[in-house]
Amino acid sequence: MATESADVIVLGVGGMGSAAAHHLAARGARVLGLEKFGPAHHEGSSHGGSRIFRQAYFEGAAYVPLLLRAHELYERLERDSGRELAVRCGGLMLGAPDSQAVAGSRQAAEEWDLPHEMLDAEEIRRRYPTLAPRDGEVALFEARAGLVRPEETVSAQLELAAAAGAELRFNEPVTRWEALPGGRGVRVTTARGSYTAGHLVVSPGAWAPRQLAGLGVPLTVERQIMYWFEPTGGTEPWAPERQPIYIWEDPDGSQIYGFPALDGPGGGAKVALFRQGTVCTPETIDRTVHPAEIEEMAARVGARLPTLPGRFLRAATCMYTTTPDENFVIARHPEHASVTVACGFSGHGFKFVPVVGEILADLALTGTTAHPIGLFDPGRFADAGA
Ligand SMILES: Cc1cc2nc3c(=O)[nH]c(=O)nc-3n(C[C@H](O)[C@H](O)[C@H](O)COP(=O)(O)OP(=O)(O)OC[C@H]3O[C@@H](n4cnc5c(N)ncnc54)[C@H](O)[C@@H]3O)c2cc1C
Repeated sequence: MATESADVIVLGVGGMGSAAAHHLAARGARVLGLEKFGPAHHEGSSHGGSRIFRQAYFEGAAYVPLLLRAHELYERLERDSGRELAVRCGGLMLGAPDSQAVAGSRQAAEEWDLPHEMLDAEEIRRRYPTLAPRDGEVALFEARAGLVRPEETVSAQLELAAAAGAELRFNEPVTRWEALPGGRGVRVTTARGSYTAGHLVVSPGAWAPRQLAGLGVPLTVERQIMYWFEPTGGTEPWAPERQPIYIWEDPDGSQIYGFPALDGPGGGAKVALFRQGTVCTPETIDRTVHPAEIEEMAARVGARLPTLPGRFLRAATCMYTTTPDENFVIARHPEHASVTVACGFSGHGFKFVPVVGEILADLALTGTTAHPIGLFDPGRFADAGA
């Protein structure tokens, strides 16, 4: 079998890998992207038509500088690709004043001086007839929040990567990769060929437990469900001009989230539960959404959203790949200087996609980045893995 070579190979061109391929190729690197499935497919973690983006980040104020950069890069990606990637419909974080969704978002907003508004229950009901908060519940409104379209984003990055000279091979799963001794780069094997390169970026999403087994990061893959409902009384009040994205926290700490009704096949308003998935692997995930699951979700949204569930339209599964502290893993591989890793996006990675691409290109080409990524060091699990 012939061996071909590149400067950088990207293993997995889903959300993060397509961003890395784009940034690497734009900087002049000879890039080879190897992907198990087709372009912008529905088997991993980057599908379903919409992803929330926001900046007043309750997961931690340390993420804010990355979110500000991601915002700029999404705008640039929209301009360069000519595709509509983002819908800036605003965002509401709802719950008790001391809930993580509200208090955490407020803390990040205040720490970074991000524009936001606090609304009480009466004001929420007045502005958004689609929402029925209980007395005492409040919301943080962020006008710059909204949604991004995952399949469009991945497609835009793949197109721009290819236009900058990247070679992208689909339906060609990597069966093995190895770092060559003495810092001589990497060798990557697929059923169709063997490839060498100076550097390898491994961004395998839910396949990370297998592709990055030696990394020592305890990862859990979870089955998640997205549901689409057609609101009673029509989608008018659910149009993106009137309805922001929302994350709504219950007193038990669980969160539901949802989107305005978007165009596209089936339309409808999408809702889902944040976290609380069932453990699976990409091989064992149950892709069927069962009637009991749909009933449970319908009951939950019905208690909060007066015009939902309405009519059930469809549902789809997706996977989270979660670390114990729910922070990402982005770094040079601790044991192989010629390998950079990106995994464990823990159900909240998509809004960061273009900035992760920029960081991966920095790490692959220079070994370092100016972005603050200390939080994502895989070494933080060294004791847990022992
Ligand atoms: C239901 C759901 C809702 C979400 N909502 C949000 C949200 O609102 N906001 C947000 O910011 N984030 C959200 N996320 C999280 C976000 O979508 C993920 O963090 C992100 O998509 C992960 O990207 P990735 O590149 O790691 O994985 P993927 O996009 O799945 O890419 C990994 C790629 O690697 C490929 N691959 C794997 N093994 C191999 C191999 N051996 N050879 C070649 N290729 C291989 C896969 O086929 C895949 O294409 C959500 C996720 C889900 C599932």
